[in-house]
Amino acid sequence: MTRIFSGIKPTGHLTLGNYLGAVRRWVEVDQHGAEALFSVVDLHALTVEHDPGRVRRLSRQAATLLLAAGLDPERCTLFVQSHVDEHARLSYLLECTATDGELRRMIQYKEKSVLARAAGEGVRLSLLTYPVLMAADILAYGADEVPVGEDQTQHVELTRDLAVRFNQRYGHTFTVPRATAPKVAARVMDLQDPTSKMGKSHANGAGIVYLLDDAETVRRKIMRAVTDSGRDVEYDREARPGVANLLDLMAAATDGNPEELAGVYQSYGALKKDTADAVVELLRPLRERHAELAADQGHVDQVLRDGAERARGVARPLVDRAYRAIGL
Ligand code: ADP
Repeated sequence: MTRIFSGIKPTGHLTLGNYLGAVRRWVEVDQHGAEALFSVVDLHALTVEHDPGRVRRLSRQAATLLLAAGLDPERCTLFVQSHVDEHARLSYLLECTATDGELRRMIQYKEKSVLARAAGEGVRLSLLTYPVLMAADILAYGADEVPVGEDQTQHVELTRDLAVRFNQRYGHTFTVPRATAPKVAARVMDLQDPTSKMGKSHANGAGIVYLLDDAETVRRKIMRAVTDSGRDVEYDREARPGVANLLDLMAAATDGNPEELAGVYQSYGALKKDTADAVVELLRPLRERHAELAADQGHVDQVLRDGAERARGVARPLVDRAYRAIGL
């Protein structure tokens, strides 16, 4: 049976990018008979300046939202990364497999280290080693597939390299995983700056649709999306990133094709209006279900306790095997 692992960082409120790039497909895979594990990867939230109480609150909120999105704890394993020691245990072995050069080449490291320096903060060592911990997250479960957005494909490539290197040097230990990205909306862009991705930790929320935004707010943000001064609705991600982003959102929300949709619209205004309506409808059930679940946090906590127990049961033998293989 195919095994699937993916995660989400509790560094901010979940966005439409997270949903379309990743979470929506997590719900589908657990319905297709694969064995799936999904994690709120809270250790990854410590790589930049953070508020301890906020990380805890956001972890729980992320788990609640994943359940609201439709993850069924009877059919998949949902847990918080720090509840399972195997991630940190395996990460160290993989740090002894990776080189500092290959980590410094990671695009996210380059971008985020520049931001940390600009904010006058030191660059935490964990920001550099973050992809190694992510590799441990995946390899500890012997995952075959990792459903992620486009921004994470480089990290999954590194994970593959580390798995192959470890296997060659110490004997076959790890499954070599592959990333899977959605056909449309693999990279949802910021509505106010369509040349950069919609990221939950960005400071300016005006360009970000959060999953818990009310209908009014979602409409306003989409209607105010930055496009360009042209008038023709064309799907060109390079020349017209703002319009292409709206077409991607519309296509993802209605199961359509962005290029075909471009031919349907005569104006940016009409495209924005329909996209706003479609996104509001897409998120409505999720928001309603979230309100119910948020009223029963005891249930969410129980799901996470059971999930951690199950996750440990899968990861521990595999990580033990890696320790033996490397000579410990
Ligand atoms: P963020 O960048 O919002 O902090 P995470 O690193 O927690 O997101 O990623 C969680 C999942 O959401 C990953 O699979 C990532 O690829 C996906 N994702 C994040 N932002 C986007 C986006 N703008 N478009 C598509 N997928 C995204």
